Amino acid sequence: MTMSTESLPKLSMYIDGQWVAPTSGEYLETVDPYTAKPWALVPRGNAEDADRAIQAAHRAFKEGPWGRMHPSARGRIISKFGDLIEANADALAEIEVRDNGRLLAEMRHQIRYIPRWYHYYAGLADKIEGAVHPCDKDALSFSRHEPLGVCVGIVPWNAPLFLFSLKAAPALAAGCTLVMKPAEYTSATALKLMELVDEAGFPPGVINVVTGYGPEVGEPLVTHPLTRHVGFTGSTKTGAHLYSLAAKDIKRVSLELGGKSPNIVFDDANLDNAVRGVVGGIFGAVGQTCIAGSRLLVHRKVHDEFLEKLTAFTTTARIGDPKHMETRIGPIANAMQYQKVLDYIDIAGKEGADLILGGKRPNIEECASGFFIEPTIFAGVNNDMRIAREEVFGPVLAAIPFDEPEEAIAIANDSEFGLAAGVWTADMRRALLMSQRIEAGSVWVNTYRDVSYTTPFGGYKKSGIGRENGIEGIREFLQTKAIWLST
Ligand code: NAD
Repeated sequence: MTMSTESLPKLSMYIDGQWVAPTSGEYLETVDPYTAKPWALVPRGNAEDADRAIQAAHRAFKEGPWGRMHPSARGRIISKFGDLIEANADALAEIEVRDNGRLLAEMRHQIRYIPRWYHYYAGLADKIEGAVHPCDKDALSFSRHEPLGVCVGIVPWNAPLFLFSLKAAPALAAGCTLVMKPAEYTSATALKLMELVDEAGFPPGVINVVTGYGPEVGEPLVTHPLTRHVGFTGSTKTGAHLYSLAAKDIKRVSLELGGKSPNIVFDDANLDNAVRGVVGGIFGAVGQTCIAGSRLLVHRKVHDEFLEKLTAFTTTARIGDPKHMETRIGPIANAMQYQKVLDYIDIAGKEGADLILGGKRPNIEECASGFFIEPTIFAGVNNDMRIAREEVFGPVLAAIPFDEPEEAIAIANDSEFGLAAGVWTADMRRALLMSQRIEAGSVWVNTYRDVSYTTPFGGYKKSGIGRENGIEGIREFLQTKAIWLST
C-alpha cells in the first residue's frame, strides 16, 4: 500500500454485532469514479472471515432470540430498520455516489424509497400462514412455512443498497439470518447501514456484512455447509458458476442476472413519451442497470423521425459531476467497466453498426478525471451483432428497424436473456398481445424501468431464477413442512 492511501479511512466488517478487521490484515481501495481517486479502504475478507460470519448467523438462527421471536416482534424490528434508513437517507446517498458515481439526486430518491421494502416485508412477517389439508385417514394433516436458515446475499455495484435491501428485507421477515457481501468496488454503504442494526434492535449475528473479492470471500460463503440459501445478483457468468457450486449441496438459489432488453416502439406510439422512456431506459444510471433497454426496436415507418427526436433529446442531457443536481449523465462506476464499454463501442463499429451519437469520452472540463463516456447510439444494427446479443452494461443503445409485430416479437425473443422489455403503442390490443408473447420477467407498456416492492421481479432464460419483491419474494426464503397428526 502506498503512503498516500495510508491516510484514507479504514472501514471494518460487521460480524456478530461487532466491527471487525479482516483476518488477512489487508484492505482494498475503493475509488470515487468522478475523481478516479481512492477515498476509503475496504477490508479484504477471506474464507476465515466468511466462516466467522456464517457461524454467527447460524448461532443467531439456532440459539439466539431471533428464531424464537414472535413474527410480529421481528416485523417491528425490520420496520424500525426501515425508519432508520429513511432518517439517514441523505448521508447514505452521499456515500453511494462517492462509491459508484450514480447521481446524487437519483440516489436520494432511491434510498428514500428503500424503506418501503422493509416496511412491506415487516408487515408480511406475521402473515405467513400454513394450511390444513384434506386427508383420507383419521388424521390431521397440516403444513407450515419455516425459514430456511442462514442466507447469503451477494450483490453488484450498480445499485448497492437497493439490491442489498431487495434480499435482506424478505429474508429477515421470513425469519432467516443473513450474511451479505457487497461488490468489492462499492462496500461502503452496506457497512454504513450496519451502524443502524443495533439501534433497530436486531440481535447480534442476525445481519452480518463481509467485504472483499468474490472468489476470496463470496465463494466460501456459498460453499459453506451451514448456508441454506444463496441469493445472487450479478452477471450471468458468475451466477452460473455459483449455481453449480450450490448444486453440490442442493442449496436453494435465487439468481438475478443480466439482460439485453428490447424497447419496442410502434408507429402509433406517442413518440415524445417513447423518447423519454427509451432515454431513461438506456441512459439512466449510465446504462448500468440489469433492465437497461439496450436494444431499440423501432417501426420502420417512424425509424428516422424517432432517431432524430432521440438524438436531439439525448444531447440536452447535462454530463458531469454526479453531485450537481442538474446532471443527468454521470461517470461509469469503475475503471474496469469503463474500459469494457469502450471496447464494445469499438466492436460495434468494426461489425458495421452506424454510430449516430457519442462513442467517446466527453470533451468537457468537468469530466477530465472521471470514467465518463458520452451517451452512445448505434443505428443500422442487426440482431446478430455482438452489440445486440451481449450485455454492455453501459450507455450504448443499438437501434434495429422492424416492419411487422411478428418480426418485432421474433427479434425481441432472439436473445439468451429475458429480463425485461418495453412496448410503446396506442393500441392496447397490440400491447396485450406483445406482452403475452415476449419472453421476459417484466414487460412495461408505455412506461419503462418501474420496479416496486409489491410486484414480482426476475428473469426468464439466462436472466435468472426466482423472483424478488411482493409475496413471491418472501417464498424464496421459506420451506414447507407437512405435519400428520394421528392418535
Ligand atoms: P459480477 O457477477 O462480476 O459480481 C457480482 C457480485 O458477485 C460481486 O459482489 C462480486 O464480488 C461477486 N462475485 C464475483 N465472482 C464471485 C465468485 N466467484 N464467488 C462469489 N461471488 C463472486 O457482476 P457485476 O459486474 O458486479 O454486476 C453487473 C451484473 O449484474 C450485470 O450483468 C447486471 O445485469 C447484473 N445485475 C442484475 C440485476 C437483476 O436484478 N437481474 C440487478 C443488477 C445487476
